Amino acid sequence: MARLSSPNPKQLRDFIERSQDGYAVFNHEDVLTYCNSPFAELFCYGQEDAIGKRFADLLRHAHSLQQGVRLDQKAIEDFIESAHQLRRSRAFRIFEVDMIDGRWFLFSEQCNELGEMLVQAKDITKQKTLEHSLQNSIVELNRLALTDELTKVANRRSFVSSVDSELSRCRRTGTSMTMALLDLDHFKAINDTYGHQAGDAALQYVAQLIRNSLRQYDILGRIGGEEFAIFLSNTDQETASKIADRTRQEIFQHPLQFEGSYIQLSASIGMATHGCNATFNELYTEADGALYKAKSGGRNRVVIATGVI
Ligand code: GH3
Ligand code: MG
Ligand code: MG
Repeated sequence: MARLSSPNPKQLRDFIERSQDGYAVFNHEDVLTYCNSPFAELFCYGQEDAIGKRFADLLRHAHSLQQGVRLDQKAIEDFIESAHQLRRSRAFRIFEVDMIDGRWFLFSEQCNELGEMLVQAKDITKQKTLEHSLQNSIVELNRLALTDELTKVANRRSFVSSVDSELSRCRRTGTSMTMALLDLDHFKAINDTYGHQAGDAALQYVAQLIRNSLRQYDILGRIGGEEFAIFLSNTDQETASKIADRTRQEIFQHPLQFEGSYIQLSASIGMATHGCNATFNELYTEADGALYKAKSGGRNRVVIATGVI
């Protein structure tokens, strides 16, 4: 059976002296009574020079050389004051610190009942770099999952979820809202005449034209091949129909230039306006019915669920 032996101070000190992690002991007045080289180096000191200095002076020294801890506050004295408030506020504290030179350290501070403090600083730069690149990947994956790759507007999933949150907001504020469905006319003929690449360019171009004719907070999504959906919150029928018709005209009046050809585009739009209690499906179904009428009525027009403008 293994026997517990008392710590061997020399062995312990040898470990600490050879460690790549920083170790330090401060007395109750925050004067550094011992540290190894890696700890002293954090404050731009050699081991011998650091010992005997106050914690605040270590921070000031590194700061004067534009090194050390990256400060949230501009003023070093404010930082020292806030650090002072936190130090010894608990028997054990652990926190991450980023340095001006780009390194990250995990600090732990452990106090005894006399106010003496053991500090350990572990270099976690590799882990932080990995963490940041994972966070960036998550942001990028989210963006990809919510964006239509070709047109860069919201995809169907993202459109539905944005509209759902907006519907809840409309219910709280009691405002009316409009859903408009826009489908490009005779789009198959564009592909057949000018090629699939021209069709793709037309979709990108139309997405941009629609975006430009909407207000910043209107929600736009590509919900099918050549079909876009627009959600206008806090908008009455008259305003919504003006926006829809402006969008239709923008598309009709600005042919796409593609490899030397001018390609005439047009779109049919069906829209439905409701009070604050409508559901997504009600709005969608009515707008879809109106879109069908816009197509059968000759295309390049806006139809409101209750009539044609
Ligand atoms: P309508 O006026 O009745 O809407 O006629 P349409 O030709 O636009 O409608 P239809 O549904 O017959 O054809 C839609 C076409 O859109 C067929 C499909 O190849 C094309 N399309 C769908 N998605 C894309 C895409 O991402 N790129 C290109 N180039 N074409 C697409
Ligand atoms: Mg179409
Ligand atoms: Mg279609």
